[in-house]
Formats: sequence, structure tokens, C-alpha cells
Amino acid sequence: MTGLNKGLRFIVLFLVCFTIATYGWFILGGAKKEYIVAPTNSTYKIIDDSGQNGASTTKLNIHKRNILLECNLVNKAKWPFCEIAIALTDSIDNGIDLSSYHSVGLDIDYTSPLKGERVRVYLRNFDPIYANVNDPLSLKFNAIEYSPGTDQGLQIFPLRSFQVLSWWIAENNIPVNKANRQFDNISIIEIATGSYVKEAYYAIKLNRLVFYGDWITESALVKLLLLLWVTTAVVVIFVERFLLNKKIKTSEAHSQHLRDANRLLYNKSLKFEYLACTDPLTRIRNRHTVTEWLEEIIIQTRANNIPFSMIFIDLDYFKSVNDTYGHNFGDEVLIKFTTTVETLIRRSDVFVRWGGEEFVIFCPETNMKNTVEIAERIRETIMMKKWEFDKDFHLTCSLGIAELVDETSEDLIKRADLALLKAKKMGRNRTEISWEHHLK
Ligand code: GH3
Ligand code: MG
Ligand code: MG
Repeated sequence: MTGLNKGLRFIVLFLVCFTIATYGWFILGGAKKEYIVAPTNSTYKIIDDSGQNGASTTKLNIHKRNILLECNLVNKAKWPFCEIAIALTDSIDNGIDLSSYHSVGLDIDYTSPLKGERVRVYLRNFDPIYANVNDPLSLKFNAIEYSPGTDQGLQIFPLRSFQVLSWWIAENNIPVNKANRQFDNISIIEIATGSYVKEAYYAIKLNRLVFYGDWITESALVKLLLLLWVTTAVVVIFVERFLLNKKIKTSEAHSQHLRDANRLLYNKSLKFEYLACTDPLTRIRNRHTVTEWLEEIIIQTRANNIPFSMIFIDLDYFKSVNDTYGHNFGDEVLIKFTTTVETLIRRSDVFVRWGGEEFVIFCPETNMKNTVEIAERIRETIMMKKWEFDKDFHLTCSLGIAELVDETSEDLIKRADLALLKAKKMGRNRTEISWEHHLK
């Protein structure tokens, strides 16, 4: 398994575990949050119908665990009432954002002359679009009415069940798009006696008020997890592409390196081959390189019944050339001799430095007559040659020729060598033919 696959498996495993853990945490209530309005940490105000010409009397008792509002409602105002107003903050325009809460728990005991009478609960929202700080009535009325009874403990209502009072909408001329319930800036909570009350004793005991919400909603959590998966997938794809490109580049560089190394080796081997085949001074072939070729060409010559000849050349009195002009001069003469001969022979002829100042020319498909012509041309050209580095210098060479008959390559070379020896003996600067064997 590659490193990437291993990494991918780890990432997927991690994501799966993370998703399960996060969702499980959410389901088990890990994201739950509560906002508690307890009697001890709030400030209260009593409001009653005295502002509307009423005669009801109220009394607020603040206890350690609850607050108790006692009212003697009197039928004088049009709508007799009393209520507790809880201020959540110091100023009414700077409330608390309860929009992330989904429900509210109310623990209220209500003493009323009839059983099952209802209280009104208002969550008052401030929004500068419709409210102003000098008019408490301008804050939006998110309202429910319910029957708390006594000793019922917390009764939970979804915030969805709150409704905006229609008289408030009408009186404040609220535009339709602002007429919905709104909990983003709640600064006052009011608990008031119900809509239909009579002249009697009422008591509202507020034990506590709890808002329930989640730090994150389920859909937001699902969206976040989805985003995490998608982002991870995108990152993985990019990283994968990046690594792949890098791999390709590395392997390209590697194969380029191999190609370079190969070429270098090839060039080196060519050079070695060249050096091994070539005489370093004259740059023509040396005798070792023709052995195999010679055997091959002799076989072909016989098979095709065509002529094959060779010329053995030895420079005359070369020792004295060295002695008179120096070894370097001798070297130059050998080089110039070679380049001159090369111009006198055919492409198919194989010119070899046999050793020292001895040379051999193998002439495939050439009979004795033609070989003599080549040899004589060489001899005469060398004899007549003007050596540019010394006009007075003269060089001659002796040549021995043999044409292949039914013999080995060694015998052929030996006969050419003998012919050369004869040329030397007969005074040098001449061409001799190995007639002896030829005539046999
Ligand atoms: P001959 O006419 O009988 O062939 O006389 P020679 O002096 O040419 O014969 P010999 O074999 O006695 O001498 C050959 C000389 O060739 C001896 C050697 O110093 C010279 N020689 C051989 N190879 C080289 C070479 O590569 N460079 C130079 N400068 N001289 C060489
Ligand atoms: Mg010699
Ligand atoms: Mg010689």
C-alpha cells in the first residue's frame, strides 16, 4: 500500500470518527445551553393599572428562592392588571439576544380566585426600527398566555408559540415584515395577570425562568460536517495531484539522469573503441583491428571468387631520418605520409599502421595489376613529395605486393613481407611482387 493510500485511510477513519463523535455529542445534549433568569440575579419593577387611572394595589415580596407579587385588583381602570417586569439589562435598548434559544421554561405559581386562570408572559424586544428608549410600550410584545397553576414546576414552551400582540402592531403601525416574533434584543420579561380578571386577590410567584437553546443548531452542525468532508476531499485531491506531479518530475529527472549517464557511457565506450582501434599518432587503424575483418574478407573473397591483394610498405632509412632531424620530425613525417597515402587509395581499401614505419594496405576486389598501380602511385608520390616543413627533405618507401591465393592470411602477409624485403634488398624505393607463390 502506498503512503498516500495509507494517509487517505487514516483521514477517512478520522473523519468518520469525528463525525460520529460530534453528532453523538450533539444528540446527547453536548451543545445545549441554558439562560437562567433567577430571582436573585435580576432587577424587578412592578407595573399596575394606576397609570391607567386604576385603583389596584400591589406588593412585591422578594424571597431568597422566589419573588411574590400580590395584587388586589380593583374594578376601576378599563383593564385592571398587575405585573412583574424583569429587566435583563441596564438599558432597554441593549437587551439579550435570545434568538438562538428554542424554548423557555416557566416556573410560576399563580394564585387566582378561579382555578386555571392564565397569566400573560411577554418577552419584550427592542429594535430601533419601531422602538425608542423613552417609550416602554414601543418594545415589541412577544406574548403567550397560559395557566401556570401552583407547584407545577417548570413548564416548557417553544419560543415559536409566542405571538406578537395585534393591538401593539396596530397601535405602532408596524410594517408586516417586522410584525413577527423577535428575540434578538430582549431587555424586559413581563409576567402579568390574565386578560380576564375580576376584582380579587391575585398572586404571581416567580420561581425561575430558563431559556433553552443549542450552541449550534442541528442543521448548522450537519452543514459544518459536510463542509469538513468536502474541504478535506478537495485538499486530499490537491495534495494527491501535487504529490503525483512531484513523483512524475522526480522520475522524469531520474530517467533524464539515466539517459545522460547512458549517453556518457556510450560516448565513453565509443571513445575507448576509437582509441583501441586507432593508432594514436597517425589516426589510422592499427593491426589488431583488422584480424577479424581479414578472416571475414578472405572467406567472402573465396566464396565470390574475386581478387584480394595487399601492399606492405616500409619507409626507407627511417632510422637516419630520426637521427638526422629528430624524433618529432620523424613523427611529423609519419603523419604526413599517412595523410598523403590516404588521398591515393580508395574508400574500400583498408590502410593500417602495422608498426613503427611499416604500413599495410589491404585492397579488396583488386587484382595484382591494379594493386601494382596503386603501389607505384604511392611510391612515386612519396618520392616526389615536397615536405612543407623542410623543402630539402626527401623520403622514399619500399613496397611488397601479394595477391591472395589458396592460403591463410598469415601466409599472404608473410609473402608481401618477403616481397618488401626483396625490394629493400634490391636497393629500396621500389615495388616488388610476390611472384613466387603466385606462379605456383
Ligand atoms: P630500412 O630502409 O632498412 O627500413 O631502414 P630503417 O632505418 O627504416 O629501418 P629500421 O627498422 O632499422 O628502423 C626503423 C626506424 O623507425 C627505427 C625507429 O626509430 C623508427 N620509428 C619507428 N616508429 C617510429 C615512430 O613512431 N616515430 C618515429 N619518429 N620514428 C619511428
Ligand atoms: Mg622497418
Ligand atoms: Mg624502414
